[in-house]
Amino acid sequence: MLQQEIRVRFAPSPTGPFHIGGARSALFNWLLAKKYNGKFVMRIEDTDLERSTKESEENIKDALNWLGITWDEGADVGGPYGPYRQTERLDTYNKYTQQLLAEGKAYYCYCSEEEIEAERQAQHDKGETPRYGGRCRHLTESEIAQFTAEGRKPTVRFHVIENKQIVFKDMVRDTISFDSNGVGDFVIVKSDGVPVYNYAVVIDDALMHITHVIRGEEHLSNTPRQVVLYEALGFTAPEFGHISLILATDRSKMSKRHGATSVDQYRNLGYLPEAIVNYLALLGWSPVGEQEFFSLEELVQQFSMDRVAKSPAVFDLDKLNYISAQYIKKATPEVVTELVLPHLKTAGYIDDTISVEAKAWLVSVVAELQEYISHGAEIVNHIDIFFNDEIEFENEEAVEILRDADIPQVMASFREKLQALTIVDAPAVKALLKSITKELKLGGKKVFMPLRIVLTGKMHGPDLDKIISLIGKERILARLEKTLAKI
Ligand code: GLU
Repeated sequence: MLQQEIRVRFAPSPTGPFHIGGARSALFNWLLAKKYNGKFVMRIEDTDLERSTKESEENIKDALNWLGITWDEGADVGGPYGPYRQTERLDTYNKYTQQLLAEGKAYYCYCSEEEIEAERQAQHDKGETPRYGGRCRHLTESEIAQFTAEGRKPTVRFHVIENKQIVFKDMVRDTISFDSNGVGDFVIVKSDGVPVYNYAVVIDDALMHITHVIRGEEHLSNTPRQVVLYEALGFTAPEFGHISLILATDRSKMSKRHGATSVDQYRNLGYLPEAIVNYLALLGWSPVGEQEFFSLEELVQQFSMDRVAKSPAVFDLDKLNYISAQYIKKATPEVVTELVLPHLKTAGYIDDTISVEAKAWLVSVVAELQEYISHGAEIVNHIDIFFNDEIEFENEEAVEILRDADIPQVMASFREKLQALTIVDAPAVKALLKSITKELKLGGKKVFMPLRIVLTGKMHGPDLDKIISLIGKERILARLEKTLAKI
């Protein structure tokens, strides 16, 4: 496999949201290319004219860029085997269609959709595998003239040789074999002259010298059609690798009801691309050792197709969040702040525009909270203590703690000391809290816990000295009075 240059491609149909499964296919191809210093081609498969949109194409490119998956050749960057957009390659497909027609390997089919459907239904009723019966395989000149006169526009069908085994090797699934009788003659060019996916993909992969095709298992049933087309066109087929489906934790196909399914959704939820890439790599591929965290560079080094599993990959949000949390923890507060900003705006904590000072403050707040979140959106579960001066106790236990006999003195001492403090930074507050424990001869817990509850309503959270210094003297003193008045 190493003699020739590895050339892989990602060939999305820009017809909707960029699914996590698509991103994983792109990643596996990209990793293989990078590992062997090969080329990664990005081809736009836009032959579904009704459903393809420029917007979806841009969205896919944007998402790939975000993930760090770059391409060497593509519709936007060009390359030696372009154009890389299928609608710009219709002449090329047509040339091969003429060749197949002339060689008798394909034929015009005038059957209407209704006729095809009736045939399919009849086969179905008899318990047979529906396939085209070959009605137009050998039409006479006069039959063709008759159909043309009726205004029928033909499709082009490929003649699949019967009673043959279509065999190919799969990098993930070993040898795969299909009975050609189960395939049946299939349409390669629609009546409007536009080729179907199975046909265009073969010509493109061949002309673009693609050596390896890694794609989702859902394409496995397309592959025999492609294999017979490679043969008929005199092309060498690439090596195929069909990676398993991505299932939800309930083992059903992952869908919207299981939560976010597109790359964009995860991006918008405030995940870091590095975390998504790390998690996607583990969806089907397993490393040799116990390592769980991989940079893109490490993945390039360690990735190999022989460690890609046949069994379905299960998309486990808890695992993603576990991985993602580590990335968030390690990221700078500035980076995490960018991830949380949109969520703070949506939740109404901050306005659309934010001053330089407010931003700097927010960065400091985020620095204290980033260890508690796995992605940006989760910030809203933790940040309220920094914004909301109306304290609500999180539970009865918290209220109970404030009934302790020492509470009034602790609060009085804290008030007095804080009022006197001129520079309210974390070290000063830390020293202040310590001095309360000393003077009142109380254990740390007897001081810190009640103060935390009075000031935040919660029993746990970031360091109290940090919370107090970030919220500031005035607001803390005001909170203190307000909360104490409640108990
Ligand atoms: N355009 C196809 C898709 O998006 C490509 C499949 C393939 O990789 O061959 O599903």
